Amino acid sequence: MRTEISIQNLKSKFLDKVEELSEENIYTCYQCGKCSAGCPSISEMDISPCEIIRLVQLGQEKEVLDSKTIWICASCFTCVTRCPKGVDLAKVMEALRQITLRKNVDYVSPLSIPKEVLSQVPQIALVSCLRKFSA
Ligand code: SF4
Ligand code: SF4
Repeated sequence: MRTEISIQNLKSKFLDKVEELSEENIYTCYQCGKCSAGCPSISEMDISPCEIIRLVQLGQEKEVLDSKTIWICASCFTCVTRCPKGVDLAKVMEALRQITLRKNVDYVSPLSIPKEVLSQVPQIALVSCLRKFSA
């Protein structure tokens, strides 16, 4: 019996969800690295933007959603303007954050912030880290 192998067969539910939320074709990326080379936030990231998209292609949900990168991304669109394949990586990052937020998982728990820190942190910073920088 012949087994048909197609991209659709290889796609994970995670990849489908990212494509649905971002409206981007993740397989368009051919790993040129231009997004990572121009990202102003990369020094704070644990996984580079082009590695994130590769991991999404491979369906590595846990590794991607556990990364700091998707929360550090500032949605500045530099990568979007540099991508030769027209991939809107900022939308992909937002989709990844949405997947986590829809599970009602806080990236930072309010109860974990010490009172002395709370009294000094500007309110906008709290809103950012509790509801993500992009919301
Ligand atoms: S710039 Fe575009 S094609 Fe190149 S690695 Fe980044 S997302 Fe992929
Ligand atoms: S949108 Fe995010 S990933 Fe893209 S360049 Fe800006 S900070 Fe980096």
